[in-house]
Amino acid sequence: MGIMRCKIHGRVGFVEACAHIAKQIDTQKLPNCHRLTIMGNIFVCDDCFNSLGFERFASLASLPLAEVIKLDDGRIEAFEAAYDRIEGRRAFCLSCVAELECHSANVDWFMGATAAEPAAP
Ligand SMILES: [Zn+2]
Ligand SMILES: [Zn+2]
Repeated sequence: MGIMRCKIHGRVGFVEACAHIAKQIDTQKLPNCHRLTIMGNIFVCDDCFNSLGFERFASLASLPLAEVIKLDDGRIEAFEAAYDRIEGRRAFCLSCVAELECHSANVDWFMGATAAEPAAP
């Protein structure tokens, strides 16, 4: 988890995406991806998710961060190794990605993750 500086939103949290999802975000497409919230926000495409074995870490995503950092069963190390191998990993402003998401009905993931909530109809 970290902070980045966005030209539009200032100091914000960020999403990290594999090269394939980064390309979708660059072209203002709604990223069609797996979303993992483990020590941060990670977007990976099907191919990266499968080839790096991210399904092994689904159980980590459901744990609070305070629990995750206390684990000593090797899952964190395995997760970090897979994370390091995400192809062309890039960081994107959480608010910018949330704005992209607002065009879709699937905004639940961002609730609580950002202050930029979609306006009520
Ligand atoms: Zn990918
Ligand atoms: Zn932004």
